[in-house]
Amino acid sequence: MIYVHIPYCHRKCTYCAFYSVVTAREKQPYVDAVCRELTMRRDEVSSPVRTVYFGGGTPSLLTAGQLGQIVDVLYKEFDMSGVEEVTLEANPEDLTHHFLADLKGLGLFNRLSIGVQSFHDEDLRMLNRRHDSEQAVQAVKRAVASGFGNVSIDLIYGLPGRGYWLSNLKKVSELPVQHLSAYALTLERGTILERQVEQRRVALPSDEESVQQYEALLEWAAANGFEQYEISNFCRPGYKAVHNSHYWDRTPYLGVGAAAHSFDGMCRRWNVADAERYIQSVATGHVEHDSEELGVKDAYNEYLMTALRTVAGIEKEKVAEPFVERLRKGISRFVAVGLIEETPTHFRPTRQGLLHADGIAAELFV
Ligand code: SF4
Repeated sequence: MIYVHIPYCHRKCTYCAFYSVVTAREKQPYVDAVCRELTMRRDEVSSPVRTVYFGGGTPSLLTAGQLGQIVDVLYKEFDMSGVEEVTLEANPEDLTHHFLADLKGLGLFNRLSIGVQSFHDEDLRMLNRRHDSEQAVQAVKRAVASGFGNVSIDLIYGLPGRGYWLSNLKKVSELPVQHLSAYALTLERGTILERQVEQRRVALPSDEESVQQYEALLEWAAANGFEQYEISNFCRPGYKAVHNSHYWDRTPYLGVGAAAHSFDGMCRRWNVADAERYIQSVATGHVEHDSEELGVKDAYNEYLMTALRTVAGIEKEKVAEPFVERLRKGISRFVAVGLIEETPTHFRPTRQGLLHADGIAAELFV
């Protein structure tokens, strides 16, 4: 598994707390640095690559030529003979006929994850997105017409005081998308949205309203052939996101680029979250980064946290021996109140349990 981080964005979305850079600067030095890092760390990927994910930021802000340069290095340095899924995160306004044709021509990308967020212009303006609703619809249609048979879109629910959520979902049913990631709008520290809420320029809906929208999402998914497999992720049969699903089962991965995380099964490492410092450090032959060794407890807590957000839940066999009895005791009270269901192999969150996944995990941490 390889993750390539492209931190650049056209502009800053009001809700975004990720590391991202809005700049008119030339992106080529960054692309060169990513290529060099891939070469420098080639030995960190020992088995054939199954998935590659270009995330951001806005990876579709690179030219097809720059993406092609990274693709060439992937083929040169890694065994790509068994690759299953290669995703590009893209914003609708970047998905022109020309770009899509060039991207398809690279021969590697087979999945697009399009940041739609809403099909209502009022929402999109409030979120400071660059595209409008019609551009989003046309981008999805163009992607499919260009040969991308696996298209995912991102939507945000819990937006301020409007009854648009149901019509957003209806729009998804009308479009040829195979996957939906639906995220609750959350107020992150240091964001433009936080300031707007403090200044009372934006009023967020209550938690109850957000939960109602989430419930509506679950009903819509069940009625429209979208299977829920994680708290925020829904797909048509056979279209689970392979790359992202592996994060939840703790598969090792190599992450390259500024702020990219890597995991080798025991140690987490994250590159410096500063594109300029990243470029400079790669030039010296040593990528600036921090890392932390995960102890058995940390690994167990992380597993609980991610597994309880999936519909499959906690696989008993994956629980390390010292914690088996403790988990059985701790989780029984959630089984008793119907938040968790026990099967011979798993502890699975129920529909209600998924809503409380983070709280349940926190109660079970060691
Ligand atoms: S496009 Fe994505 S990464 Fe960039 S500012 Fe918007 S939410 Fe953040």
